[in-house]
Amino acid sequence: MSNVIHLLSDAIANQIAAGEVIQRPASVVKELMENSLDAGANNIHLVVKDAGRTLIQVIDDGKGISEDDAVMAFERHATSKISTADDLFALSTMGFRGEALASIAAVAQVELKTACSNDSAGTLLRIAASRIESQESVACMRGSIFSVKNLFFNVPARRKFLKANETELRNIITEFERIVLVNPQIAFTMKHNDVEIMNLPVSNLKQRIINVFGKRLNARLLTVNAETSFVNVTGFIGTPDSSRKRSNMQFFFANNRYMRHPYFHKAVVNAFEPFISAGEIPNYFIYISIDPASLDVNIHPTKTEIKFENEQSIWMVISGAVKEAIGKSSALPGLDFNREVSIEMPVYDRSRAGNNSPGIRLNPGYNPFGSGQRAYNSPSHAYDWEKLYDKNNTSGADTGNQAEITQPFPENLSEEHRNMLTYHGKYLLTPIKSGLCVIYQRRAHIRVLFDDYMQRIVGKEGVSQGVLFPEVITFTHKEAAVLPVLLDDLAYIGFDLADLGNNSYSVNGIPAGLENINTVEALKDILDKVIETGCEIKEEITEALALALARKTAIPHCKYLTDEEAASLTASLFSSSSPNYTPDGKIIIVTLTDDEIDRRFK
Ligand code: ADP
Ligand code: MG
Repeated sequence: MSNVIHLLSDAIANQIAAGEVIQRPASVVKELMENSLDAGANNIHLVVKDAGRTLIQVIDDGKGISEDDAVMAFERHATSKISTADDLFALSTMGFRGEALASIAAVAQVELKTACSNDSAGTLLRIAASRIESQESVACMRGSIFSVKNLFFNVPARRKFLKANETELRNIITEFERIVLVNPQIAFTMKHNDVEIMNLPVSNLKQRIINVFGKRLNARLLTVNAETSFVNVTGFIGTPDSSRKRSNMQFFFANNRYMRHPYFHKAVVNAFEPFISAGEIPNYFIYISIDPASLDVNIHPTKTEIKFENEQSIWMVISGAVKEAIGKSSALPGLDFNREVSIEMPVYDRSRAGNNSPGIRLNPGYNPFGSGQRAYNSPSHAYDWEKLYDKNNTSGADTGNQAEITQPFPENLSEEHRNMLTYHGKYLLTPIKSGLCVIYQRRAHIRVLFDDYMQRIVGKEGVSQGVLFPEVITFTHKEAAVLPVLLDDLAYIGFDLADLGNNSYSVNGIPAGLENINTVEALKDILDKVIETGCEIKEEITEALALALARKTAIPHCKYLTDEEAASLTASLFSSSSPNYTPDGKIIIVTLTDDEIDRRFK
């Protein structure tokens, strides 16, 4: 048996952005399952104990590893998959960095049992904290069994850093889903604590989706299919009526690899817009195939974002394909553009939920900057409007109407302000002396947050919260170009970025109180907004930054506020620098005068 694994040269190794490969149990799951796919397995079993803390085991019937190669597989930059830098750009396999097994073995107790054929002897290798403990011959079937035990056993700080089992398990399931949704031709099972939670036989793609997400999707999936000279867009979307405010069925795959793509997401959402209620997110499973040469290959271990050469054209194809699929479907309940805003909660399946419980959990002590006393001139600012902002929801999607708040009712608010009606979860109606005032909730919140962010930047009073395991974020050239101008302001808000060179930064600190938002995503969004605005003067950039942050953290378009929240928001708005307009000039308040109202009744 020839030994097929070789060491990457240093030069190539250096071309590969190193980074944190193993951040949590889900990372191990991803790496091991991808290796099994690369090994040509037809059956892959995932066995997890205690959300991966105690055991992560991947059993496959792939080609196995020879006795001689077994140890080599765990060496850094050992890979059988590439040997020249050019190979990097013609990737067809999943893993290619040759550092996954080495990284895993460095932070866990690993056992590998593997054989290359059913009748040759297999090998059993034990490694812990990068040390080979033993290797012996054993009888085993063709394929590999990787058992990763006690992850981070030798890195206590890291082990402690793991989130609640629910969350870690949710992350594992997410990785599992991303893999099984592109491999319907392979059978998978997943067990957690001896309970089988998924059993996915070989099937077609549609059946695979239904097997993963449940039968209620049956008859609620519409076929998407658009083939053009430069890109093919295929897959399924959910029928408009299956859209929900909180949903985790949004999947893009590019050349069979999961990717996040906020811009393409908008293409889908826009196409759905006339058919769904505000704040609802459509379900989609969209597979994009494209010439790999038109991808901006950016190798980052945890990267799920991909840049395409001609994003706009692809946007159009996606948009067209989705519109066509909706149009063709007879499942539409008729085009009702004036549908009531629905506030029903999505079907909530506890067993599949992570930390994203439905409803709004408002923490009375919550302050996004944790800086204690705040310097406001106006007494009404003392109301914690931040409570309006649900940390668990920054996506712009609504979370339902179960807001709870324990904060006492603001006392000096006029009787009239207490008299508020929330309309469609979008507007607040309140009588004022001369008539009826209609307030656009989200815009009001953006104004209030903007003022606050500006104050933090100008007053340099943001508090940074160090992160234990900094994420590395790689910017595009365009993004990196504006970054230096923003670094100070970002620091004043609480972002602590360290330049690693090559447009990469590690995020060492984030604004206190914003721990639950995806910082990398947020930063990228913010930079994109700043670039979009195209400002050049420092003040303008600062404002663009504050506005982008405010938008990112403001309440979504549809959110039913409690009386207290509505009162608090209104109070903050009226003491803001400019209650009538958002920083970008959009109208926040419309007043219907008594005269106007009276006139309508004549
Ligand atoms: P990479 O996947 O980037 O090559 P890894 O560290 O993940 O690096 O794996 C190192 C090598 O070990 C792979 O290139 C492959 O040759 C071998 N290997 C890992 N997992 C398996 C598996 N399940 N079956 C067969 N070979 C495997
Ligand atoms: Mg790999």
